Order: sequence, then C-alpha cells, then structure tokens
Amino acid sequence: QSKENGGNRITFYKSEDTDRMNRRIAIESGLRPALYQRQFHLSYQPIYRLGDGRLRGLEALIRWNHPELGVISPKEFIPIAEHSGLIIPIGEWVIRESCKMLARIRKYGLHDLRMSINISPLQLHDPSFMNTLLNVLEENRLEPSSIELEITEHYLFHSSETAVTALSRLRATGVRIALDDFGTGYSSFSNLKQLPIHCLKIDKSFIQKIDLQGAERHIVESIIGLVQKLGVEVIAEGVEYEGQYRLLKEWGCNYVQGYLLGTPMEPTMMDTSMFRRAANTEERVESGRSHD
Ligand code: C2E
Ligand code: MG
Ligand code: MG
Ligand code: MG
Repeated sequence: QSKENGGNRITFYKSEDTDRMNRRIAIESGLRPALYQRQFHLSYQPIYRLGDGRLRGLEALIRWNHPELGVISPKEFIPIAEHSGLIIPIGEWVIRESCKMLARIRKYGLHDLRMSINISPLQLHDPSFMNTLLNVLEENRLEPSSIELEITEHYLFHSSETAVTALSRLRATGVRIALDDFGTGYSSFSNLKQLPIHCLKIDKSFIQKIDLQGAERHIVESIIGLVQKLGVEVIAEGVEYEGQYRLLKEWGCNYVQGYLLGTPMEPTMMDTSMFRRAANTEERVESGRSHD
C-alpha cells in the first residue's frame, strides 16, 4: 500500500522498516510455540572423505516451517533465538534429535559415521551444556567421538579464554570440535595452534571461487597445507562444481561437503537403502556417479 504513495520515499522506507520489525516480532514470539509444537526439523547433509570417497558423516541443519511465514532460514532465526535465550532449549532439541538419528543410522552398519552439530556460543557458556550432551550420548549409546561440534570462527577469535576453556573441557570428554566458516573471521595461523580443534571447515565463500583465476585458489591451497601440518583436518564446504572437487583433491583436502555431492536431505528421504549401500558397497563419490 505504501508503494502507491508514489514518490514519497520516506513513507516507503518507513513501511519497510515496519515490515521488518513485524517479521522479527513474529519470529521471536513464534520460537517458543515452534519448539513445543514440533515445527522444527533437521535436515542432514552428507560429508565425504576425499581420499576414498566414502561417507564420513552428516551435518544436522535446523529447518523451521512457520505456519504463516513459511520456511524461515536458520540464518534469520538463529540470531533471534540467541538474542532471546531460546537457543538453549532449541540447541538441546537439536542435539537430542540428531543423536537419535545417528544411533538409528549406525544400525545399518555404518559404525564410524559421525554427526556434525552446529553449536551457538551461548550453549558453550551454559553450565549444564556438557552434562546434557553427555547424557544424550549415553542414552543413545554413542561414544563422544561420534559427534563433532561446529563452532563458527568468528565467535572464537572474538571471545575470551572461557570459550577456549569450555572447548578444551569438551574435547577432554572425547567429543570432536570443528571450527566452522573459516576465513570469514579474523583468525591467523598462530591463533589456530592454540585452539583445541580437530577439524576446520573452510567457508564456502572461498571454495566457490577456487576454480576461477583468483587469489582464493592460492589461499585455499595454502590453508589446507598449513592446517594439516598443525594436525588439524580440513573440510571444504560449498563444493558445487566438479572443477572445485578436483582441485581440492589435488591439494589433499580431507573432506568435502556441498551441493555437488549431496544437498541437505529431509529425514524421510534418507531411506534405509542409501545407508545399506554406503555400508556394504563402500559408496564412493567418484564411482557412485550420483552427481552426473
Ligand atoms: P553452516 O553451519 O556453515 O552450514 C552450511 C550451510 O551451507 C547450510 O545452510 C547448507 O545448507 C549450505 N550449503 C551446503 N552446501 C552448499 C553448497 O554447495 N552451496 C551453497 N551455496 N550452500 C551450501 P543452512 O542450512 O541455511 O544453514 C545456515 C547456517 O545456519 C549454518 O551455516 C549454521 O551456522 C546455522 N545453523 C543451521 N542449523 C543450526 C543449528 O542447529 N544450530 C545452530 N546454532 N546454527 C545452525
Ligand atoms: Mg556448520
Ligand atoms: Mg555454522
Ligand atoms: Mg559453515
């Protein structure tokens, strides 16, 4: 209706602001009912080992189908959940749900399959987080090393020693730690050495440019080499093209994840045959031809 006001730009912008505010309010007030009315679900994206093309694990990604607003991206609602504190119960739900799924999948014979779970910094600071996590693992008879917690780089380098201490305590239990979205923050390699991480995920904004003739190509190649010398494994995220895959393989990257190899899957799409095949015939991304 504001657009019909013609050239009145002030009215136009104001109305946009109001829309944005209303949406935020709707999201914020919708989060609690969403949790209790089961409007969230997880979708799972495969991560493959580059050396032999075998399935290494799955990353759990939260989805929200809002009754009025439709599908809302986690990029939009996670920060709001963090702001309101609801990320704590939501994050706990994610852990329970993804661990239940991992326990189910492992029954197909995929005994070393891993679940990657995104964790908000607020969860790390929650004093009951570690206990909850260990309880859920025990309930599902999973060893701690079967899960990998993903923390974004941006957060770790801005935060205090408490974050590093929390991660070190988690690591001591056997849980794996991955640094997510590497390259978007402010880390340096000297910082990296001090972090209690097993794995580093190079952000997709870099991966998406490596097959072009730009600086990203050299940056990613160097990251892989340097990080591995520190004893840390590397996952490339956002691999969309065959050319990117080939370069990553040439550079000795450990793992790959991206639309080329598999989009996030709804649980109903993850049929048992997929896992039987992966377990029995050692499904390989190169011979599997799932992306041809
Ligand atoms: P992330 O942890 O870096 O997850 C990877 C994102 O890249 C996912 O977006 C995934 O769908 C997308 N992606 C995967 N392959 C490709 C590709 O080849 N090309 C492109 N363009 N994108 C690809 P999604 O699911 O929208 O999640 C966005 C972010 O929301 C995640 O980034 C993560 O930071 C956050 N998030 C998702 N689930 C959770 C959760 O359960 N808890 C928390 N705290 N954050 C979550
Ligand atoms: Mg992630
Ligand atoms: Mg993340
Ligand atoms: Mg990421």
